[in-house]
Amino acid sequence: MDLHDLPMSEPDITEDDIAAVVDVLKSKRWSLGPVLEAFEDAFARYTGTKYAVGVSSGTTGLHAAVATAGIGPSDQVVTSAFSFVASSNCILYENADPVFVDIDPDTFNLDPAGIESALTDRTRALLPIHVFGQICDMEPMLRIARNRDLVVIEDACEAIGSEHRGRKAGSFGDMAVFGFYPNKQIAAGEGGIVTCDDPALATRLRSLRNQGRDEMGTWLRHIHLGYNYRLGEINAALGLSQLNRIDDLLARRDRVAGWYNERLRDLDGVGTMTPAPGTTRLSWFVYVIRLHPTIDRTTIIDRLQRAGVPSRIYFSPIHLQPYYRERFGYREGMLPVTEAVSQTTLALPFHTNMKEAEVERVVATLRKAVGASGRDGG
Ligand SMILES: *Cc1c(COP(=O)(O)O)cnc(C)c1O
Repeated sequence: MDLHDLPMSEPDITEDDIAAVVDVLKSKRWSLGPVLEAFEDAFARYTGTKYAVGVSSGTTGLHAAVATAGIGPSDQVVTSAFSFVASSNCILYENADPVFVDIDPDTFNLDPAGIESALTDRTRALLPIHVFGQICDMEPMLRIARNRDLVVIEDACEAIGSEHRGRKAGSFGDMAVFGFYPNKQIAAGEGGIVTCDDPALATRLRSLRNQGRDEMGTWLRHIHLGYNYRLGEINAALGLSQLNRIDDLLARRDRVAGWYNERLRDLDGVGTMTPAPGTTRLSWFVYVIRLHPTIDRTTIIDRLQRAGVPSRIYFSPIHLQPYYRERFGYREGMLPVTEAVSQTTLALPFHTNMKEAEVERVVATLRKAVGASGRDGG
């Protein structure tokens, strides 16, 4: 067996991707050009939304969406702490307060049942995260948002291509944000995009990403406090080239997840992710297992590592990050489900080009590690 260390993830790259990037370089049009426009058009078409606005990352997209929604000091945004820190930091950037609601233990997503009791007269928005590609239970959330006149911003950074009853992630909220970091289903080096159906929101997003310039892009006329959140042509070219073959990319990830599912089904003490009710397509972002609480995760991580198999604690909850503890005084016990889930989840190596033999090696190593901890009944 080849015993080199496996990568946690890696992007997929083709000759077409390379040619698309080289074409932009040769064109000498490196910012705000035709490739960005083509990427945005193709992305809006793909998600079934009217507009898509390219930005420099998922994080800047989240911030631009929060700012575009007019969320500001003393406003509250209901969200989940079982996520990547950016989905909550974007609320802090506008001096608003995140209000964390606990998650559903099966889907790891914000539990709509907890939203009503978290609402106050300061609540302005809901910011659900489609964790690990699993789409949130959007219908009850949209109902609450309609009744209470709240903005809905989807963090769809992990869910490009996921579908709930045939509707794609990114088409449910007032705005939705995607990211194209190299470990995402499609990558642009760095990059992100915000989707929406309202032309006024799209105009505002385009202005904020480009220094607050007016719609005509008049170079030195700034009508808002803006930013440089532009997505460069080189990154857009890579993103567009990858989007052009997204069905193939998602199908190959689906196959890798299938190899894992098959082999882990009978492994005592190890739970796997199952699509939530109503899911018509799960776009696999990472492959996360849930260990039985009696299994010592640190020991498993260590045993895997010694066999050249990396794994990651995923997620470590936002409210328990040092910065959040210090600023807000958050402590353990505040979000029991989020905390219990985050103590038992573990991401295994996963990417588009993973081979069946590599999955086999990860699972064999995991089986041994779990067996040695006294849990393997098989
Ligand atoms: C990847 C990701 C983001 C955005 O990350 P960037 O690195 O800024 O592109 C935001 N939220 C979630 C949940 C993510 O997984």
